[in-house]
Amino acid sequence: MSERIVVGAALVEDGRLLAARRSAPVELAGRWELPGGKVEPGETAEAALARELREELGVDAEVGGRVPGEWPLRAPYVLHVWTARLRPGSAAPEPLQDHDALRWLGPDEIWDVPWLDQDVPAVRQALAHLGAL
Ligand code: C5P
Repeated sequence: MSERIVVGAALVEDGRLLAARRSAPVELAGRWELPGGKVEPGETAEAALARELREELGVDAEVGGRVPGEWPLRAPYVLHVWTARLRPGSAAPEPLQDHDALRWLGPDEIWDVPWLDQDVPAVRQALAHLGAL
């Protein structure tokens, strides 16, 4: 089967990175991730990420650039990460779907949450790409 892309957001505001705690499925519940989801056929990565952020968090986000790299998930999925920001006037993020908690993590707090294993290298790379948060 060919590779399927899951897009995750390095959503940054006021020098903090948004982390979302999964509520499902049971094997991922309680672990933290960069919010996002699967790119649907015919959809661009940017459009998919904006859609997922709207559905999951209720926000209006502007997707920025791709963080270099890709991280394998359960086959056939691979994780790509894009930077993102809230557009002026966006609602504040709320855990509407798939998550039961959100945290804005400052530079000293990034590793305070148990990220999904596959998100750890992606978060590290996102931070390197963003420079100082
Ligand atoms: O959110 P959604 O269920 O569409 O995500 C698809 C899959 O991608 C999930 O099963 C999850 O394991 C994985 N994922 C991930 N890291 C992320 C976002 C999603 O491992 N940051």
